[in-house]
Parts: sequence; structure tokens; C-alpha cells
Amino acid sequence: MSTPGSSTSPGDSAVTPASTPPVRPTVPGANLSALRDHNAAAVLTLVRVAGEGGISRVELARQSGLTAQAISKIVQRLVEDGLLAETGRGASTGGKPRTLLTLVPEARWAVGAQLGRDALTVLRADLTGRVVADRRVPIDLAGWGPARVLDLLAEEVGRLLADVPRERVLGVGVASPGPLDQLAGVLHQVTGAPSWDGLPLRDEVAGRLGLPALIEKDSTAGVLSGLGSPNRAFVHLDRGLGAGLVLGGAVQRGARTNAGEFGHQTLDPNGPRCRCGNTGCVEALWAAAPTPQAAAAVLGEAVANLVRLLDLDEVVLGGREVLAAPDVYPAEILRVLAARLPDPAWQPVTVSLAPSGPNAVALGAAGLVLSRLFG
Ligand SMILES: [Zn+2]
Repeated sequence: MSTPGSSTSPGDSAVTPASTPPVRPTVPGANLSALRDHNAAAVLTLVRVAGEGGISRVELARQSGLTAQAISKIVQRLVEDGLLAETGRGASTGGKPRTLLTLVPEARWAVGAQLGRDALTVLRADLTGRVVADRRVPIDLAGWGPARVLDLLAEEVGRLLADVPRERVLGVGVASPGPLDQLAGVLHQVTGAPSWDGLPLRDEVAGRLGLPALIEKDSTAGVLSGLGSPNRAFVHLDRGLGAGLVLGGAVQRGARTNAGEFGHQTLDPNGPRCRCGNTGCVEALWAAAPTPQAAAAVLGEAVANLVRLLDLDEVVLGGREVLAAPDVYPAEILRVLAARLPDPAWQPVTVSLAPSGPNAVALGAAGLVLSRLFG
């Protein structure tokens, strides 16, 4: 089992494109324009994965399965759009050296926002998922209600984009506490914030900003904030507790896009009353714990259940409560895992803090927007 703070993530702030592998042109008779867009997205993804070293057209053709002619046309269009640049020459196995292509990070921007219960975080990320600007301001999600909070969101995003041409902004991803319907873009009964029930958050944000918008549950956004194991959870402990899940390399949202409501599992039916109305929920036991260590141990028990249920090998921790006690949570959770897993030596699980820290959830929301470009 690894030590706290270790991580298998290869990148600090890279937003995961891995759940959407390149699309190969294997569907006969598919709509040509759609096919072309899929293929362009696949090419962009391959160039992004290649990183600063770049990739040649020949290699793009080999990896994508597209013809050299198709690659040539797609690359030409992406260069004309400013998304790709020819940046150097690579070694050749014979004949002339190959021109290498790289992504132009600042060609487009994605905005990510996190609606927290008492803070609003907004950030701007480039095409590589690097955060170039961020802002965090206090709010009272339940007390202020939607109009005041969303007006402030629009104002803060406006500041982030003050010197950016709007046509270079891909859109805004907004992460919020759940439950919510990610596909419809509508919030449901957000615990403790009744004035937000039924709010069409996606359309409200898009209308205020004049930009495409997407919404996501905060914990699910968090799991998209960095690269990592194909079987991992992002455990988000703020004023509520949720888990974002990637299994088999794909993000899991469940039947109503509401998977990961982790905080209201019953750990002790005779336990303290929870604000959700049930008794002995993880959140209630966590809140009733007398010390930070005891609170972390409660979370550890819940994480151990999650790891055993889903056979995870990586748990990333985020949220204000965890970040406020970084020396306590990973160590305590690892201790409980070591006690609960039947064969810890055979079932190693890394437990680490999210590399992007307080920006993790908003960065994942920006990643949602980027994933639309990368296919
Ligand atoms: Zn509860």
C-alpha cells in the first residue's frame, strides 16, 4: 500500500480525456460531416496526448487508423483554425524528416466553476487543462438563492474572460452539489438548499453568459480533474460528502446521472440523526466524531466499503474538510483500508490528495467542456 500523498497520476492539472478514446472510421455510410468531426476530435486527442514533443502526420495516421490523405486534410483544417501548430521536425527512418504537430494551448479556453455551499470558484483552463486564472469568492448558496449567486457567477466569469475573444471560449462547465440531472441540466433536491430545487442551472448559466454550458455533480467533476487509474474514486468532503467514479476507464453517472451519493449510506442504523432525515449516515457519524482523527476514521470505513464494492485501486481526496487536515485524512483512510481489506498486499490502493487542491472540482467542470472538443 502506498504512502499518503503518493499518486499514480502522471499529470498535475491535466484534465482527463482518457474516457473518450479516439473514434475510428469503421461505420460504413456514416454521415460524412459527423464522421469528419469525430475524426478531427480523434486527431486532436492524439496530438494532445503526444504533448509538447509533438507527433507526425505519419504517426497520426498509424495511431488513428485514418488514411494519410484524410490526416492531411484534417490537420490542414486544424492548423487553419489555430488549434494545431507545426513546431519542429522529428527523426525519420529515411527520406526527409517529419514535421511535428503540437496543440496550441491558448487557441481555445474552457471555463470551470464550482458552486460550493459557501464559496464560488471559477477558473479558466487552456486546451491542455492548465489553469491560467482562478478566483474564489464567498457565497451562501442556500441563503442567497439562485438569482444572486448566478449573477455573481456571471460577474466573476466576465472578469476571467475580460481580455479573451468570446469566439475562443468553448463554454462553461458548472459543478454543483447534487442530486441533479446532468443530462437535463436541472438541479433536484439539493440537501439544505430548497430554493435551488428544480432550477434549470445549465440554461440559467448559458443565458447569463451567452456561452454553451454544461453541469455536473461536484464529486463527478472532481474525478475528471486529473489523469489516474481506470478504476478510481474522487471522494469529495466539503459541507457534504460525495464520490465521483471512474470504472473501466469510463466515468460512471448511473441511471439518473446521480451515482456517488456516498454521504448518506447508512453505517449505523442506531446512529445520530442526519440532516437528510435518516439515521447513522456516513455524514452524520462524521459530523458527530469528537476529533479530526475520529472523523477521518469514519470516512475511512465508508471508503473501505466503496473500495471493496467496486474493487478500486486509487482514491483521490478533495474538498475543504480534507484540505484543512491534509496530514490526517490520507493516513487515517490508509490505516482503515489496511485493517478492512482481506489481502492488502494483493489489493494495493493509493490514497492521495487531489493535485489541483481547491481547484479540483472546477477544473473537472472545465474538463467536461474540453472533452466536447476532444471527442
Ligand atoms: Zn443522511
